[in-house]
Amino acid sequence: MRAEIISNGDELTSGKILDTNSQWLSLKLADIGITTLYHTTVGDDLNAMIEVLRIAVERADLILWTGGLGPTADDLTRQAIAECVGVPLEKNEESLRMIREMFQLRGHEMPKTNEIQAFQPRGAKTIRNPHGTAPGIDLTVTRSKPVNGRLDFFRIMAYPGVPAEMKEMWQDSGQQALQEMLGQLTGQKRVLRFRTIHAFGLGESQIEAMLPDIINRNHDPKVGITANQATITLRIVAESATEEECFKKIEPTATLIYNTLGQLIFGEGDDRLQEVVCRKLNASGKTLAVIEAGTRGLLAEAIAGSKEPPDCFAGGIVLPPKQPIDPDEMIRRGRRLFNVDYLLLVGAYPIGKPDRNRTEETFTAVIDARKTNLQESIITLQHYPYVGHPDIIDDLYVKRAINLLRKTIS
Ligand code: ATP
Repeated sequence: MRAEIISNGDELTSGKILDTNSQWLSLKLADIGITTLYHTTVGDDLNAMIEVLRIAVERADLILWTGGLGPTADDLTRQAIAECVGVPLEKNEESLRMIREMFQLRGHEMPKTNEIQAFQPRGAKTIRNPHGTAPGIDLTVTRSKPVNGRLDFFRIMAYPGVPAEMKEMWQDSGQQALQEMLGQLTGQKRVLRFRTIHAFGLGESQIEAMLPDIINRNHDPKVGITANQATITLRIVAESATEEECFKKIEPTATLIYNTLGQLIFGEGDDRLQEVVCRKLNASGKTLAVIEAGTRGLLAEAIAGSKEPPDCFAGGIVLPPKQPIDPDEMIRRGRRLFNVDYLLLVGAYPIGKPDRNRTEETFTAVIDARKTNLQESIITLQHYPYVGHPDIIDDLYVKRAINLLRKTIS
């Protein structure tokens, strides 16, 4: 089965906002074994919308659409689908009830203008929107003539553009509906389960090279690799008749990944480096303060924003940029201000120099703040060349620092 994702809105085609819906949905489709072959973005122009849909139904079996389901004149998704498929728009009573209920929950009468959101192409099912007023559209159409290499039907699923609503609807019903459809197609009950393992410290291609046999299209279970600001994620997806069989398939692959990557692995699922570090510190009753220069407060923000309880975190010092950095002075200041077990330092400028010079070194350090002797208190110290894309270099320093702390305390 081939999928195409279409994002709709003038805000997208004018460059005002970036299409993150397609990226998110592609990952979700991959989780259940559906390959996305096309991403298309189209503005709020009815003819253009019909045109991209016509192209999509020829070259894909599943079309996921986001945007244009609101009540205003520029929300044209309903019409575009109806025109493409050649059916009229009809008022859907179930949809209308859902929209009314949503307004009642918010303590308002439904404005007349919102009634338009209950109109759907004939034959479509309504996709429940648990927290918004725009229900989605789910329409399966049997092809009137066969298209080479395509299934004998196509399915269009349209979601609102608001990312939070779209994601919730996907989790509420979308994924389940598609898994059921895949099960019917194969004549087998299909269960898909996945496990995500996160690593930090090497690039995507280096990690891929360490795991040549499993990141291979024919490997069962499938293992995908993605990189997000230097965090590498391995996603193991297993498909089987039962959940137990899925986990049985996943286990040896996960073990192999752990054995190969060892200390590079820092967590699974929703874990970020800061959650892992805070969890460890909380468990051992240890405390932490951070002192950062050149990273715009991002280190303090990352630790303070950890989803683990912030018990371990005493606070931070953010030094102004473009000042010479004296690491010893950073430690002294940290000691004066905080009564903690560890100080985590980042100096994302060349040591002792006021300007960013890409060839100079910068540093991160973990300090045992209970030791009075300055030199003896340095547990780990790492220097890095100041090299990296300007958009992500500060994040990279922050992650490196947290990762250094993780390795130091584990
Ligand atoms: P509603 O009218 O109920 O808000 P809608 O389906 O009409 O829903 P849009 O008006 O298309 O949604 O988009 C609403 C907002 O959602 C946009 O202003 C934008 O901020 C965000 N959004 C829309 N599409 C995307 C996308 N592909 N990626 C990221 N954000 C998006």
